[in-house]
Amino acid sequence: MAEFDYDLFVIGAGSGGVRAARVSAAHGAKVAIAEEHKVGGTCVIRGCVPKKLLVYGAHFAEDLKDAQKFGWKLASKPDFDWPTLRDNVLAEVERINGAYTDTLKNHDVEIFLERATVEGPNTITFASGETKTAKYILIATGAWPHIPEFPGSEHAISSNEVFHLEKLPKRILIAGGGYIANEFAGIFNKLGSRVTLINRTDVILRQYDQSIRDRLLQISITKGIEFCFNAEFESIEKQEDGSLLVKATGYDPREFDQVLIATGRRPNVSGLGLENAGVALDDTGAIIVDDYSKTNVDSIYAVGDVTDRVQLTPVAIREGNALAETLFNDNPTTVDYDAIPSAVFSHPPLAAVGMTEGEARNKLGSIKVYLSDFRAMKDVLAERNERALYKMITDAVTDRVVGLHMIGPDAPEILQAAAVAVKAGLTKADFDNVVALHPTMAEELVLLR
Ligand code: NDP
Repeated sequence: MAEFDYDLFVIGAGSGGVRAARVSAAHGAKVAIAEEHKVGGTCVIRGCVPKKLLVYGAHFAEDLKDAQKFGWKLASKPDFDWPTLRDNVLAEVERINGAYTDTLKNHDVEIFLERATVEGPNTITFASGETKTAKYILIATGAWPHIPEFPGSEHAISSNEVFHLEKLPKRILIAGGGYIANEFAGIFNKLGSRVTLINRTDVILRQYDQSIRDRLLQISITKGIEFCFNAEFESIEKQEDGSLLVKATGYDPREFDQVLIATGRRPNVSGLGLENAGVALDDTGAIIVDDYSKTNVDSIYAVGDVTDRVQLTPVAIREGNALAETLFNDNPTTVDYDAIPSAVFSHPPLAAVGMTEGEARNKLGSIKVYLSDFRAMKDVLAERNERALYKMITDAVTDRVVGLHMIGPDAPEILQAAAVAVKAGLTKADFDNVVALHPTMAEELVLLR
């Protein structure tokens, strides 16, 4: 009789957990996974996927307007129906949830749709009281929106609820200056809401290159998004008519129909019972792991946002994959965190790989910066006064491209391909050696002077 019920028990069926479960099972391990909400996790259920679909939906506002410059006559004034977009997006989420569930089942991964907590180094307990044992336990419970504490914060929503709104708010206040705040500012602005973004500092998207974030700020203001900087919440009061009266430092009280808080996400460890097994956390509550995603307890591993290494879905997937290779394919594997491309699906989107100009100057000293500041051809004809900006940073000594930063139409699509060159360590001369593909926006990358 086997010593344990399973070889691997995964808690959390998000991107990292599902990948680890599926690949471990493919390598012959007996695997179970517990999920208290829906298979797919944040990215599929209330993150990247539904957000990107809303971005597409919102972008039609510009496309329909620009179309008229290209000769299209609209029979009537375009009208937007939020419930149609919302329900179609949620239906797509259900479809992907089903596909993920099928994938797990096809790999003979046993799925428990209930909350599981850690009882000991090799034991987990379900809410029902039933226990299971496993040779290895993987914690892949992700992160959870952090809501600062202040009077009335319960009247605000987080990115968990934003996909389910009954109606489109006429006036929305979005708190935070990061990924979620800028992406939803763009979405609601294009869908017709009056958007105000409030942040505790005067910096948005602090980890991105300054020229790129300055350009986003300038374009966002031009589109009508209002920014309130250096402001912290004092209170939110719900008024009789349902509107929310917001008081924030340095600003007059203002009414909004909805307040969305996007001030970061914290590792989701609350009530998981990690203390029962003595799993060590850092000051932020993140599970401390080594290069192989192993915690201080030999039988317990953790991947994805719960470890707060890099809070990105493809990173969690890589960590899950590496774990399966290490534990069940006799192939110890680590994840390379260098030159991870990332993007913000704002309007317009921005994307980056490698060092910002500031980081490169600090690290390398001698660098070269190449810029292309241009208006996309389509935007010129549409008389859309919005300029794209591409920035390449090279090591002045070796000519190696160490950073690429872009804002403009399709920037994430273009950057994903260019990131291969940056990751491979190619030089500016290598970029210059490639003949331009004309007319594209991406050709700017091989024409930088
Ligand atoms: P971010 O970490 O991107 O931004 C957090 C913002 O909130 C910052 O502007 C920060 O201000 C502010 N902030 C942080 N703590 C507080 C606080 N206690 N009170 C008030 N303001 C605060 O977080 P998001 O919530 O936007 O996103 C969470 C994570 O989800 C991201 O880190 C990202 O990894 C992931 N994500 C990725 C996406 C993508 O890849 N496109 C899309 C959406 C999310 P300041 O910087 O001024 O200190």
